[in-house]
Amino acid sequence: RVKHGGRGKACFFDAEMDEATRARRQIESELRHAITRNQIHVSYQPIYGALSGEVSGYEALMRWNRPGHGISEPDVFIPIAEESGSIVQLGEWVLREACTEAARWPHPLTIAVNVSPVQFMLPNLCERIEAILEETELAPDRLEIEITEAALIRDRDRVMATLQRLRSLGVHIVMDDFGTGFSSLSNLRTFPFDKIKVDRSFTGMLEHDAASRSIVRAIIGLGHSLGMPVVTEGVETETQRQIVLEEGCAQVQGFLLGKPDIEPSIKLAAKSLLSSTADADVSPPPWR
Ligand code: C2E
Ligand code: MG
Ligand code: MG
Ligand code: MG
Repeated sequence: RVKHGGRGKACFFDAEMDEATRARRQIESELRHAITRNQIHVSYQPIYGALSGEVSGYEALMRWNRPGHGISEPDVFIPIAEESGSIVQLGEWVLREACTEAARWPHPLTIAVNVSPVQFMLPNLCERIEAILEETELAPDRLEIEITEAALIRDRDRVMATLQRLRSLGVHIVMDDFGTGFSSLSNLRTFPFDKIKVDRSFTGMLEHDAASRSIVRAIIGLGHSLGMPVVTEGVETETQRQIVLEEGCAQVQGFLLGKPDIEPSIKLAAKSLLSSTADADVSPPPWR
C-alpha cells in the first residue's frame, strides 16, 4: 500500500506485514485447540420452499467463539484454517455435529453442510462421510453437501469420482455461490449436481439492477433445463423474495426468512408439539 513511499515508509510497511503474519499465526494456533476448548459451534439457517412457504431444511454454519474477540467471522478464520489444514478437523466436527442435530428433526427436513475444497481433496472423504451418517443414523438423502467451484479445479477425475460416490450413497450435492467462479457453465456441464445455489451477490442487486435479474432468471432457467432446482441465498427483502418466486426459484434462504440460529431443535420440538404429527408443518409461511 505504501510501497513507493521511501525507506521509512517501507519499514513501516514491513512492520505492518509482520503484524498481520503474527495475527494470522495466532489464529492458526488458537484454532488448533478450538474444538477441545468448546469454542466451535454450529448455527442453523432455515431454507424455505419458495412455493410452500415451509421450512425444507437448514444450512449449518460454523461459528468460533474466540476468547477476547467474540464470535469470529467464518470469512476470516476459514481461509486461515484452510491454509493451515485445521479445516479438516473443524469441518469434520461440524459435519458430525450437524448430522447428529438433524437426525432429531422431523423427518423430511434436510441439513446442508459446507465442505471446503481442502476437505474435498481428502482421499477418504467419502468414507468419513459414510461413517458419520452411520454413526448419527441420519438418512443419507437428508444430507446436502455444499461445495464451491474452488473444489472442482484441481484433479478433475478425482473430483468426478468423489461426486459420483457421494451421490451413490444417496447424499445430495449443491453447487454453492454459483456464478462467482471461473467456469460455472462448463462445471455444470461436467459435474453431477443435485441443486444450484445462486450467490447472494446477485440477490442483493435484484431490485436495483436489471442485469442481476436477467442473470438470476438465466440461472434458474438453466437449472430447470438441467433438472437441478435452484436456491436463492441472501434474500433480505420482500421484493427480492417476490422476484425470485416469479422467476421460478425452488427454495429461498436469507435474513428476511430466518437468520442463523444455534438452537433450531428447541423451536422445532415446540412446533411439532403443537401440530398433531411430527412431520406436519414445522413452520408457518413467514411472509403471510
Ligand atoms: P455460504 O456457504 O455461502 O453461506 C451463506 C452465508 O451467507 C452465511 O454467512 C450466512 O449467514 C450468510 N447469509 C445468509 N443469508 C443472508 C442474508 O440475507 N444477508 C446477508 N448479508 N448474509 C446472509 P457466514 O455464516 O458468515 O458464512 C460465510 C461463509 O463461510 C459461508 O458462505 C461458507 O463459505 C463458509 N462457511 C461457513 N461455515 C462453514 C463450514 O462449516 N465449513 C466450511 N468449509 N465453510 C463454512
Ligand atoms: Mg453454503
Ligand atoms: Mg453461498
Ligand atoms: Mg460463500
